[in-house]
Amino acid sequence: MDAPIYMDNNATTRVAPEVLEAMLPYFSDLYGNPSSMHTFGGQVGQKIDAARAHVARLLGAFPEEILFTSCGTESDSTAIYAAIRSNPDRKHIVTTRVEHPAVKNLVEHLGKNGYQVTFVPVDRQGRLDLDVLYDSLSDDTAIVSVMWANNETGTIFPVEEIARNVRDRGIVFHTDAVQAVGKIPINMANSAVNMLSLSGHKLHAPKGIGVLYIRKGTRFSPFLMGGHQERGRRAGTENTASIIGMGRAAELAMAGMEVENSRVKALRDKLEAELLKRVPNSMVNGDPENRLPNTTSIAFEYVEGEAILLLMDQYGICASSGSACTSGSLEPSHVLRAMGVPFTAAHGSIRFSLSVYNTAEEVDRVIEKLPPIIDRLRQMSPFWHEAQKSGK
Ligand SMILES: *Cc1c(COP(=O)(O)O)cnc(C)c1O
Repeated sequence: MDAPIYMDNNATTRVAPEVLEAMLPYFSDLYGNPSSMHTFGGQVGQKIDAARAHVARLLGAFPEEILFTSCGTESDSTAIYAAIRSNPDRKHIVTTRVEHPAVKNLVEHLGKNGYQVTFVPVDRQGRLDLDVLYDSLSDDTAIVSVMWANNETGTIFPVEEIARNVRDRGIVFHTDAVQAVGKIPINMANSAVNMLSLSGHKLHAPKGIGVLYIRKGTRFSPFLMGGHQERGRRAGTENTASIIGMGRAAELAMAGMEVENSRVKALRDKLEAELLKRVPNSMVNGDPENRLPNTTSIAFEYVEGEAILLLMDQYGICASSGSACTSGSLEPSHVLRAMGVPFTAAHGSIRFSLSVYNTAEEVDRVIEKLPPIIDRLRQMSPFWHEAQKSGK
């Protein structure tokens, strides 16, 4: 099989060659335990400190505010549990209807176990109803968790503004910034965000490494207890190679932000504009103004997203559909449903998410291959023929 045309970077990214190279010695010669007293282990500890400093710089944070975890999901869980354990009298949680399952499913679980949850709705463009959010806050609210950017549509939320208002009410604010870090500038220096999650494999570090930023002074309670690693905030011997890879990926992300917002954005814009032009009855899902530079979610009406993915797969084109197909059903995703995207459009929604590794040739190939695929599928779709008859 030829190299894939990989446009599914919001699902996972390739490990940057520079990251792999930085990691390799820690699988072979440099296997020491960073907590050991001897120089052999200690040198690994120094590399972890350096990685922490790189991640801190990417976020405009202090190194002491950076906690290494096993993934974005663990960072989200750690943040939410830390907030509710540090405020045991508070039984209210605020989040949005469009969170990643890492937040959504945890908060729904807490909702069945003694917590009252407010799920802030979004409009047709995926923008949050901030009045609902602010009106829901009370002395009983333990935490507000709002993602920085949505993984399905790329919509960016006004997280800094929300964080300031939430802080002024004396409430802890967490953001799942897994899709935002490395794509848009983030600076914790003058921010009101208490905790922020990110994940290595969404920014060219390996799978299985995450970070939780915890602002100094935020009350914290560890999720994993045991040894004294990570200053007692997360027990367990450090995933040394991955932490060092994460540090290298943070350096690359800082250097690559410019490319992401110029070249990658231009590729995304061309892909989107050409597909909309060549395919009738197609439209973009999400807020076209406040959007990640690498993501476009396009609804192709009257076809099944899964069928599009299968036919694109024959050309090695990798993207995602807007259905929760992992559950075995073909329900449109909770994000598109929350936005009120009509059934006929949600089912045919495809997310393309690019990275610095995509080329203009790849974009041209998708522009060439996809429109005939949609046309072919529509010829077989009774919904399409019906819509044509009724003149839609
Ligand atoms: C991928 C993702 C996660 C989960 O990160 P893992 O490292 O895979 O656990 C959480 N939130 C968002 C927005 C994501 O895109």
